[in-house]
Amino acid sequence: MTIRIIIAGPRGKMGQEAVNMVLKNKEFQLVGCIDRKNNGKKLTDISSLPNSDVPIFEDPEECMHTVHPDVLIDLTTPYAGFEHTLIALKSHVRAVVGTSGFSEQQIAELQALAAENKTGCIIAPNFAIGAVLMMQFSKLAARYLPDVEIIEKHHDQKLDAPSGTAIKTAELIKEARNNKQQGHPDEVELIPGARGAADDGIHIHSVRLPGLVAHQEVMFGGSGQILTIKHDSHHRESFMDGIRLSVEHVMNLEQLVYGLENILNLD
Ligand code: NAP
Repeated sequence: MTIRIIIAGPRGKMGQEAVNMVLKNKEFQLVGCIDRKNNGKKLTDISSLPNSDVPIFEDPEECMHTVHPDVLIDLTTPYAGFEHTLIALKSHVRAVVGTSGFSEQQIAELQALAAENKTGCIIAPNFAIGAVLMMQFSKLAARYLPDVEIIEKHHDQKLDAPSGTAIKTAELIKEARNNKQQGHPDEVELIPGARGAADDGIHIHSVRLPGLVAHQEVMFGGSGQILTIKHDSHHRESFMDGIRLSVEHVMNLEQLVYGLENILNLD
C-alpha cells in the first residue's frame, strides 16, 4: 500500500530533506505541502524544491481535506507545528512530528486527542538513530556515574533552547538516578547562566553557532575518570531514516508515541 504524505515546512532545511526522502521512496506518495507562502503554487514553482507537480496550500485544513493524506510530516516552528498537529489529529490524519519546542502540556493535549480519535502520532525530539542510541547509552551510564552535564550544540537559527534532545536526555537520566546537587554547594555564578540550565540538578549547556548542525556530548564524571558519550549530526539527512521508519510505524498506531526509542527494538 502506498502511504499518502503531506509535508509542512517544505522550504525549510529539514523540510527540503523530507521532500527528497519521500519523493525517492517507492512506498510513499507526496500528495501536498503546507507552507505559509506560495498558496496555489506547485513544488516545481519554488527554485529550491524538486521539479514536481505536488500542490502547496497555506491553509492546513484545506490541504488535508483536498488531498486526503494518510500522514502529515511536520517540520516547521513550535507554534505552527502544534496547530498543524492538532488539525491533523482532529481530521484523523496521522502525524510524524519533528518540530521541536512543544511544552509538556501541549504534548499531553495531543496525546489525549490522538487517543480519543484513535489516530497515531509520533513526536521525536531527534530522529537520528545514532542520537537515540546516545540517549539510551546515557541512561545506562547514569546508573553508575550519576554526576553528569549535557552540552548541546546547534546552528544559530534554532529557536528553542535547550534542545528537545537535551531535555529528553535529562529525562532519561532522571529515570536512572536521583535528584543530585552537583558541583560545590557554595559555588557562585559570577555571570548568570554560567553553569547552564539546571534540570533537577543536571546542568545543560546550549551552544549556538553558524557551521553547527546538531551535536550533543553527555559527560559523566567519576573518581579519576570521565566518560563522554557524543553524537554529531553533520547533515540533516541523518534525521531521514528515523522519519521514514516513523511514517511506516505510525500507520499501525492508534495513540501518540513520544520518542523514536519507543518504536526501535533496543532490548
Ligand atoms: P527552518 O529551516 O527554519 O524551516 C522551518 C520552515 O517552516 C520554514 O520554511 C518556515 O517558513 C516554515 N514555517 C514557519 N511557519 C510556518 C507555518 N505557519 N506554516 C507552514 N510553514 C511554516 O528550520 P529547520 O532547521 O528545517 O527545522 C524545522 C524544525 O525541525 C525545527 O523545530 C527544528 O528544531 C526541528 N528539527 C527536528 C529534528 C528532529 O530530529 N526531530 C532535527 C532537526 C530539526 P519561512 O521560511 O517562511 O519562515
